[in-house]
Amino acid sequence: MPVRVLPDFLVNQIAAGEVIERPASVVKELVENALDAGADQIIIDVVDGGRTLISVVDNGCGMTRDDLAKSVSRHATSKLPDDNLSNITYMGFRGEALPSIASVSNMTIDTFNVTEPHGWQLCVDDGDIRPSDWECGTRIRVENLFAKTPARLKFLHGDRAELMAVVDIVKRLAMSRMDVGFILNNKWRFPKNQDLSERVIAIMGDDVRGRMLDIDVSSSSSNMHLYGVISEPTLRRASSVDQYLFVNNRCVKDKVLVGALRAAYMDVMHAREFPLCALYLNLDSNAVDVNVSPAKTEVHFLEPSHVRSFIIKALRDRLAQTITDSKPVQFAPRVESAPVQNMFRTFHSDNRNWENKNINVCSPIKTTPDFFASVNNAPTPNQNVNSVDDVFSDFPLGHALAQIGNKYILATNGDNLIVVDQHAAHERITYEHLRNHAIKSQPLLTPIVVNLRAEDVMAVLSVADEIKQSGLTIEEFGDDAVAIFEKPSDWDLNWGAVLHDIADEVRANGHSSQLGERLHLKLANYACHHSVRAGQRLDVAQMNALLRDIENTERAGQCNHGRPVYKIIPFSEIDTWFERS
Ligand code: ADP
Ligand code: MG
Repeated sequence: MPVRVLPDFLVNQIAAGEVIERPASVVKELVENALDAGADQIIIDVVDGGRTLISVVDNGCGMTRDDLAKSVSRHATSKLPDDNLSNITYMGFRGEALPSIASVSNMTIDTFNVTEPHGWQLCVDDGDIRPSDWECGTRIRVENLFAKTPARLKFLHGDRAELMAVVDIVKRLAMSRMDVGFILNNKWRFPKNQDLSERVIAIMGDDVRGRMLDIDVSSSSSNMHLYGVISEPTLRRASSVDQYLFVNNRCVKDKVLVGALRAAYMDVMHAREFPLCALYLNLDSNAVDVNVSPAKTEVHFLEPSHVRSFIIKALRDRLAQTITDSKPVQFAPRVESAPVQNMFRTFHSDNRNWENKNINVCSPIKTTPDFFASVNNAPTPNQNVNSVDDVFSDFPLGHALAQIGNKYILATNGDNLIVVDQHAAHERITYEHLRNHAIKSQPLLTPIVVNLRAEDVMAVLSVADEIKQSGLTIEEFGDDAVAIFEKPSDWDLNWGAVLHDIADEVRANGHSSQLGERLHLKLANYACHHSVRAGQRLDVAQMNALLRDIENTERAGQCNHGRPVYKIIPFSEIDTWFERS
């Protein structure tokens, strides 16, 4: 095969393949250029999710005729004046974006620089530069993205999904520069010079008002500074959509930072929930390499473990201030079940002492048919038996002996001591029950209207078909709401919250092929909140009923959060504790 040097247009298209994945990546490059040009007002418009037109107008320094001509040739940049790659202060520096985007679209640039008598227009396809009446800054119009590369076009999602990705990128850029005003499609407006909390509310939504904790911590030894806001633990999202992370003011999705954030919230937030944050980490430019990926969302830290522990400590300290203030856990009232309770004599004469210690003891002395009748689901046992262990000998988890700490059930099956986490157990049972019952939908007489932000409306509508398969039928209801016409029967959930969570997920992942499953899980999760909680007193019938349910439940070994449900401790093991063999 002969070796050939590739023509420019092909080189550019290959470069575009790395950086320009979808309309949102075009918007990112163009807005970054506008910021580099010193603009403090940027107006972005996209039509058909950016497929037909992307236009970015800025009030920055603009370009001279000469610079305009060079700007679209490969590796032409005004941002590396001294050949020093380690001291990058601009957002861009590769000189690749404009030629790459132009190679996969029809690009027109209008620009004005004060050193020129008038503005200039460049139509990249024909290479012509003409005088123009453009008077301030630059406008770049990108039309028919990927029309020249149909294979790439096929990978785009629907217009709504593409617009959502654009909204997301504009929000990330807006969060990095509060001094700059951004307007997207005349609908998303972030006025210039907002303070951090105003912008956070404008970007994350009104529900964060008053619920973000400010952070401002420096480490003089390593010259790091972390500031911004994080959500109090009760404020959380179903995805990482509202996590905004910046390193030296560059928006990143870095695993060191994401991991540190998760670790900081580990004790106060479930692994499937996500805290919100806008966090800005500044450190010496030689302690971090931003020149890693062309899209520049990853960075390399010279000392990642330092960065990690610095962040975890800063956030934990801040969160600890609120946790110590938090209310003590409320215990559920004691569950009484008179007929069953009365049949059991407690084996300690002063039962109240036990109760005071949160130990709920059931006597293993006598069983009667009544007792079994009161235990839900428990098969009627053989009546010709002498001891309770015999009665329950067919049941792997045996019978309940006591409840300790109002959260664990102690049981025995004659050979083993069994300790059950009552909440985890009930949660698993509820979850499996839901999984095994197909969801049916039920039309609503009056549709439920759920108000959502425009980007959330787009997000849920883009997966309306999948949601429908899970029994929820939604339709557009103006720009800022959707209407629910059918809901899964038997489920009265906070549909507004469910739709918000779905929107979070769709916006973070672009699309969701497993939405049916997620909704299922979501239902199970909601149901989990109705499960027997730790802290709830159970009577012996309820405990035994729970043991039977666990035995009849698939995957009963762990709850749906992956925690174990029960432990079986053989008596032989207990014997070794006491050096009996
Ligand atoms: P880079 O940003 O890496 O330098 P680009 O291809 O994005 O490469 O842009 C090439 C050059 O075009 C920039 O270095 C800059 O000089 C000029 N340029 C691009 N967009 C603008 C703009 N909006 N305002 C002024 N100059 C611009
Ligand atoms: Mg650039």
